[in-house]
Amino acid sequence: MSAELEPVVHSKTRLWKYRHYAGPVRSKFLAELRDNKRIMGTKCPVCNRVYLPARPTCFVCFGQLYEWVEVSNKGTLVTYTVVHQKEPTYPLDTPFVYGIVRLDGADTGLAHIISEVDPEHLRIGMRLEAVFKEERQGSILDIKYFRPLY
Ligand SMILES: [Zn+2]
Repeated sequence: MSAELEPVVHSKTRLWKYRHYAGPVRSKFLAELRDNKRIMGTKCPVCNRVYLPARPTCFVCFGQLYEWVEVSNKGTLVTYTVVHQKEPTYPLDTPFVYGIVRLDGADTGLAHIISEVDPEHLRIGMRLEAVFKEERQGSILDIKYFRPLY
C-alpha cells in the first residue's frame, strides 16, 4: 500500500540584502561595463560559441572559456514581455519591457530592459542598441537599457 504524499508548500516573502563575490569571470565582465563601457563575452575554443554575459564554462561542450571577446553594443530583439506585476526587486516601476537581446558577435541572448519605445511598436528581430548610465558601478544595470536603433 502506498500512501499519497501531499506536497508541502510554504508561501513566504523573502527579501533581504546580501553581498556576494561575483567570481573572476563575472567580475571582469562587470568591470568592463563600468570602466570601459565594453560588453565582453567569453569564447569557447572548441565550438566557437561566444557567451554573453561572459561565463567560465561552455554549456555545450563543457570546455573552459579563457578567451575574451568584445561584442557589439548593438543587437537584435529575440523576444520580450511587458511586465505589469510590481515586484520589490524590479529596477523600474511597471509597466516596463524585459527583452532578450542577441548582441552582434554573441551566440547567446542577454536579458535586459527595453525602453524609449511604445511596446506596441516592438517587433521581434528589430535592431536595438545599449544605452549606458553616466555613472556606473559594476552592475548589469550599468547598461541602463536597450533602445531601438533607427
Ligand atoms: Zn564549447
